[in-house]
Amino acid sequence: MESSLYVHIPFCIKKCLYCDFVSFPGREDMHRRYVAALLSEMALRGGKTLRTVYIGGGTPTCLEPGLLHRVLEGVDRCFDTSNCIEKTIEANPGTLSVGILETLKEGGINRLSIGLQSWHPEELKTLGRTHDRQTFVQSYKQARKLGFDNINIDLIFGIPGQTLQSWRKTLEAAADLAPEHISCYSLKIEEGTPFHSMIAGGALEEPDTDLDRDMYHYAVEYLEGRGYERYEISNFARKGRECVHNMVYWENRPYIGIGTAAHSHREGMRMWNTPDLHRYCTLLDSGKLPVEGSEVISPETGMFETIFLRLRTRRGINFREFEQEFGTDIRKLYSEQIERLKKDGLIEMGQEGFWLTPRGIDLSNSVFVQFFIN
Ligand code: SF4
Repeated sequence: MESSLYVHIPFCIKKCLYCDFVSFPGREDMHRRYVAALLSEMALRGGKTLRTVYIGGGTPTCLEPGLLHRVLEGVDRCFDTSNCIEKTIEANPGTLSVGILETLKEGGINRLSIGLQSWHPEELKTLGRTHDRQTFVQSYKQARKLGFDNINIDLIFGIPGQTLQSWRKTLEAAADLAPEHISCYSLKIEEGTPFHSMIAGGALEEPDTDLDRDMYHYAVEYLEGRGYERYEISNFARKGRECVHNMVYWENRPYIGIGTAAHSHREGMRMWNTPDLHRYCTLLDSGKLPVEGSEVISPETGMFETIFLRLRTRRGINFREFEQEFGTDIRKLYSEQIERLKKDGLIEMGQEGFWLTPRGIDLSNSVFVQFFIN
């Protein structure tokens, strides 16, 4: 059976102030050792046929070209990628040199996801990002010149100090570049980040939730007007350019995760690797898998996770697929909840399934919880 592979590269040039991903800034001393460990993990866990590959981070493109080449070549050597339809890498402007872009192209990368986040220097500074928009545009154009024809631009809204007007300009600038895909994420203030302490100490204003919703609604309307369909709560694509790899997560299908803190999901099990960089390398040096924990996903949990993940997508829940996978008709199992959600205008029913309405998206957590308490 075909699978999907996620490879985590946990290095960044500098830590952004809102970031709670497993990423280590300024650890160039560990790049080589980490790549060697990554290749050992691939060798131990390889063999599967891959449909999609996603190299994320961190900032994968902060590795030097020679190391990136080894990672890409390792994926092809340890797995069967002959029928792989999508190979994505996350990149940050400023790390996309011609040398890196050529390495990615040679290594079969056919989709780039570049973090612009904002068009405005003061917002980039607030976020603690290292790039400016000129560098972004330069990287983007260089990538186009080298033949990358499937590019995502990542944007963030709800940035402290951001206005609806500045968000409009960011969206317009991104759409004017005509990427195939645009992701718009609402900024979340995560515990343990500098943003969290700055807000707690009054040094930064807490994002306004009404403004956050206004920004989201504007993005949906604007991007749909520019030919980008919202196929997941935060993701917009030109027809046929949806991210196949991310759809695997949103449909709650199996995948393999390699690297520090990476999660894997298969056959009713979830496993995760250690987030500790040294431990990860040391375990693999001695030929051991760097797995830190695992859990069996009960059928009830599996069903709940499938519902809330699929409801993130425009397609929503398909009755027939759900019955095939769980052996039960969701309309009977959750008849009361479905009736209530329909009456409250939070979901819309079609012939083949149901999905969130715009109001349901705004109140998505209260929709998801309905399926949990059953
Ligand atoms: S570039 Fe991405 S992963 Fe790295 S610190 Fe910034 S937000 Fe985190």
